[in-house]
Amino acid sequence: MSKVVHVIGGGLAGSEAAFYLLKRGYEVHLHECRPARDDGAHHTALFGELVCSNSLKSKNLDNAAGLLKEEMRKMGSISMEAASKSEVPSGNALSVDRDVFAKEITAKLRSFPNFVLHEEEVKNLDDEPTILATGPLTSEPLLEHLQQRMGSKCLSFFDASAPIVSKDSIDFSKAYFKSRFAQDDAAYINCPFTKEEYTRFVDELLKAEKAVLHSFDTKYFEGCLPVEVIASRGYETLRHGPLKPFGLGTPEHPKPYAVVQLRQDTLLGDYYNLVGFQTNLTYPAQRRVFSLIPGLEHAEFLRYGLMHRNSFFDSPRVLNEDLSIKGIDNVFVAGQLSGVEGYVESAATGIVAAINLDRRLNGLPFLPVPRESVLGSLLFYILHASSPFEPMNANWGIVPNADKHNRERSIESALSAIESYWAKAHE
Ligand SMILES: Cc1cc2nc3c(=O)[nH]c(=O)nc-3n(C[C@H](O)[C@H](O)[C@H](O)COP(=O)(O)OP(=O)(O)OC[C@H]3O[C@@H](n4cnc5c(N)ncnc54)[C@H](O)[C@@H]3O)c2cc1C
Repeated sequence: MSKVVHVIGGGLAGSEAAFYLLKRGYEVHLHECRPARDDGAHHTALFGELVCSNSLKSKNLDNAAGLLKEEMRKMGSISMEAASKSEVPSGNALSVDRDVFAKEITAKLRSFPNFVLHEEEVKNLDDEPTILATGPLTSEPLLEHLQQRMGSKCLSFFDASAPIVSKDSIDFSKAYFKSRFAQDDAAYINCPFTKEEYTRFVDELLKAEKAVLHSFDTKYFEGCLPVEVIASRGYETLRHGPLKPFGLGTPEHPKPYAVVQLRQDTLLGDYYNLVGFQTNLTYPAQRRVFSLIPGLEHAEFLRYGLMHRNSFFDSPRVLNEDLSIKGIDNVFVAGQLSGVEGYVESAATGIVAAINLDRRLNGLPFLPVPRESVLGSLLFYILHASSPFEPMNANWGIVPNADKHNRERSIESALSAIESYWAKAHE
């Protein structure tokens, strides 16, 4: 009889963990509270749903996020497999049709005879061998249960997500296709501002009405600031951040003062999202202010940006080296809840948590992911960062001895470290 394991949460991390454990022959019980529970961000009952941007960040190996994805391919990642079947054009980034992506993951998991789905909200942990991957929007009863068992060690803060518009509603007498600098496709739609248009836009953005933030703190993650918060840091800040015009000039628009970029969101190419436009403005304010963007005057908003809670553990203090919870040793934490930030980072930790659980159940010693790799460095960071702990994404800054003058060497060393880790884990 195969051994039973539980995975709580069918998001990116939970899907990766379930996939690994299914392949290892476990009877995997996946507990997912969708579609019954509406958390305001997920819109389907599919596993691996991307809740905001459809970008999995850079494809380039000299970018830490790009390298992390290559490391995951070497580890048999289900999300990388799904991404290869759902990719949409977006220059140097790997972007996907979110619907095709999630359907691929869902069909794959459901195809295993040893997969058992429980459509239910888990409110307590029962200490069976478990991967806890309930993400940044972990339901309140479960958070309360965790806080009761572990003390007030779960933190929470807000992030924000960006709006989506229909391509048909964009005015192409003003907007144009181009990717930044010399990328070989013209994947992005660009909306160029004159100085006067930019000034008026920033003025209105700063005055616009914001949504109420209930009883939670407004502590933002610096890598995902709402557009109005960036604007409040100085008039020119946006045009040196998400609205930077460099590399986006054309003969018709030789020197735009600022540019809003829109990225393709669906394979059909009918939906586009506003890059970097996470926001906490009210929906009417979003419609009014974002319609000041040249080319978006009559844009049809298919989804508005929104604020959300982001819950995560104080991992350096509450998790063991193998991602299990101190004092609840059979439960391994994966995904955003473990203190990583981002789709790909969350998915990657799902594979590692599953390997660690598998080894534990087989009486094998813990095997750390080598720090030469981006994944190993990310895990090391979330388990050893100093207080107060802030979530971390893939970047070269956390990789020890990363040589910025010789990325080739760092890439080679990361990939060969992952290959030998993977081989050792399956000896
Ligand atoms: C609104 C929003 C926008 C974001 N935008 C981006 C972005 O643009 N780019 C990016 O890289 N990252 C983004 N993130 C951050 C993060 O990368 C994603 O949230 C990512 O999906 C995290 O993966 P995960 O597997 O940890 O959690 P999720 O993918 O959220 O999966 C968790 C799953 O657990 C389920 N669940 C929750 N509680 C329970 C329970 N008690 N019982 C059973 N099931 C439960 C949920 O329904 C969900 O399916 C965003 C996060 C949010 C919330």
